Amino acid sequence: MTYEDMHMRPVKHALIIGGGIAGPAAALALAKAGIRSTIYESHPAAADGVGAALMLAPNGLNALKVIGVDAQLRAVSRPISHMTIANSRGKTLSGFDGLPGMQPSRVVWRSDLYGVLRRAVEDAGIPLVYGKQLVAASESRDGVQAQWADGSCVEADILIGADGIRSTVRELIDPHAPSPRYAGFLGFGGGAPFATMHVPADTMTFVFGKHAFLGYWADPDKGICWFGSLPHDTPLSMAQVRQTPAAQWLDRLRDLYGDDRPAQTFLRHADPNQLVTSGASEMMPPVPHWYSDRMVLVGDAVHAPSSSSGQGASLAIESAVQLARCLRDIPVPREAFASYERLRRQRVETVAANAAKANSQKASGPLSKALMHILMPIALKTFFSPAKMFGASHDYRIDWEASALHKAR
Ligand SMILES: Cc1cc2nc3c(=O)[nH]c(=O)nc-3n(C[C@H](O)[C@H](O)[C@H](O)COP(=O)(O)OP(=O)(O)OC[C@H]3O[C@@H](n4cnc5c(N)ncnc54)[C@H](O)[C@@H]3O)c2cc1C
Repeated sequence: MTYEDMHMRPVKHALIIGGGIAGPAAALALAKAGIRSTIYESHPAAADGVGAALMLAPNGLNALKVIGVDAQLRAVSRPISHMTIANSRGKTLSGFDGLPGMQPSRVVWRSDLYGVLRRAVEDAGIPLVYGKQLVAASESRDGVQAQWADGSCVEADILIGADGIRSTVRELIDPHAPSPRYAGFLGFGGGAPFATMHVPADTMTFVFGKHAFLGYWADPDKGICWFGSLPHDTPLSMAQVRQTPAAQWLDRLRDLYGDDRPAQTFLRHADPNQLVTSGASEMMPPVPHWYSDRMVLVGDAVHAPSSSSGQGASLAIESAVQLARCLRDIPVPREAFASYERLRRQRVETVAANAAKANSQKASGPLSKALMHILMPIALKTFFSPAKMFGASHDYRIDWEASALHKAR
């Protein structure tokens, strides 16, 4: 540490770019650490009622508990205490009741999760400013200046890029940073309110279909809810997907899953008006530079695993909490950022690598697919057992009270 570092004033005010999941989580964790922040979101308003569902794994729920929103989350989500893996004939290959001593994962509508975080941010008196798109930033010895698309500027001690997989802050930190990689499929989901199938209330079923991967569960209000991937040569944004009528996409999904039970049944009943898309499924390769002197990345901006990992949001919340903990205990921003990266990089890259491995199996050719269907039941009992697949990612708890100066979780 240099003489100048030793006399640097601690971080008092952070600009947070992005009002998705990582941004509000970081703001709440910073408030708990005694650091003021302001969140800037490029969208003109809150995204109420937009988006599909996502699963929060026990590790994500543990991180939400640290920032005090676990009870609110429980009120808008449902426990998934049983996960089942099935083949295209509907035969159960493996079941998983969660790992001993761990709470069940929970399924939540994305907009409900945003709502919980937004209300907590409001209650904490943290400003969340909509319609502010970051376009540039410059760092000085004492702070950082952010510039918005409307030409206005704001200064603070540090800037946190929680601006998602197409992060602007990532490019500002390193113009040569990698871009997201297309996983080869488009994401869809929806509801089939009139499908008459018995699906246990607290079960999520993942189906290795003949041609693609699909998941479904029962929602008391929306009937059978599902998500599925549609292999597509070119990546399409959500806006591009929406240029084609929902009924046409649904027809293609019905064709794709036509040989798979029970997908064929509930897709027949799926309502085109309830079809939601997440566009091209993308993931981030390892990002070489997570921070600069006064700027740092969190969430999908720096570690977006494939959506099939079911871990993106959980890891984003974990990282937000760990970043705040490091800033609480280490006054020099660059050193706090370095400690944060040391705490996080290996974990998030391992989750991403495991998800990429699983994806390559889902996207394999006909011969290896046939082999996989034969070997799958054995694999699921041995090296792909639920404990091996989920143990390390689900079993993660942040010790908020422990000083980040010492090597700790
Ligand atoms: C189909 C699909 C299914 C998924 N399922 C799961 C799941 O089951 N479980 C799970 O844990 N995760 C899941 N994920 C991943 C999860 O959604 C992401 O990991 C999570 O949303 C990341 O949060 P974030 O805050 O980092 O980014 P985002 O949620 O993308 O938020 C970034 C925010 O930054 C704003 N922004 C961007 N640029 C700027 C700018 N220049 N200026 C100001 N604001 C800006 C954006 O408008 C956005 O609101 C899924 C993802 C997909 C696509």
